Amino acid sequence: MIRNIWAVGRNYRDHAKEMGAAVPTKPMIFLKAGSTATVSRDVPLFTGSKDIHHEVEIALRFGSTPDANGKLLFDGAAVALDLTARDLQAEAKKGGLPWTLAKSFRHSCPISAMVAISNQVPHFKFELEVNGEKRQKGDTNDMIFDFETLRLYVQENFPVEPGDLLLTGTPEGVASLKAGDKVAAWFESSANHKVRMEWIFR
Ligand code: MG
Repeated sequence: MIRNIWAVGRNYRDHAKEMGAAVPTKPMIFLKAGSTATVSRDVPLFTGSKDIHHEVEIALRFGSTPDANGKLLFDGAAVALDLTARDLQAEAKKGGLPWTLAKSFRHSCPISAMVAISNQVPHFKFELEVNGEKRQKGDTNDMIFDFETLRLYVQENFPVEPGDLLLTGTPEGVASLKAGDKVAAWFESSANHKVRMEWIFR
């Protein structure tokens, strides 16, 4: 069971820029409820928003083995969508309100199968296409805060549990989804992992 999904906002410069946001000087973490994760290929679009955006991200899973300092190491990786109700997020930003409704609605975290990774998290290249058209392309070398910085930062500040996920941020190219869209996302790692997942939005 996934208890918590710790997500990083604005971890790729060009995405921060497309959102009109400053590049952060420390990791900007928000929560998606663990129960937002879904492995289903069929994803209902949240009807409480008129503007659901795709954000493709590398998801890492915290394992049960700690490092020498008692901080959990990652043991798995998947490709995930940090679905975002952009209209509700804009309202929340304007009012200085929390992002929960914009980020943690039902089915807001579609996720692929998990591949096992070693303690040394590999480098990933990842992409997303909608109806066969490329929309997002990422390379984890472009992250502002790298996997190790995020692993330590999150555990210094939050009660992370084995099985929790870390969403590591999205590159530029986020855009709206509509009913009937077919979305495919995949990654390749420097340790030769290949994962691909396809979803249909309804
Ligand atoms: Mg995101």
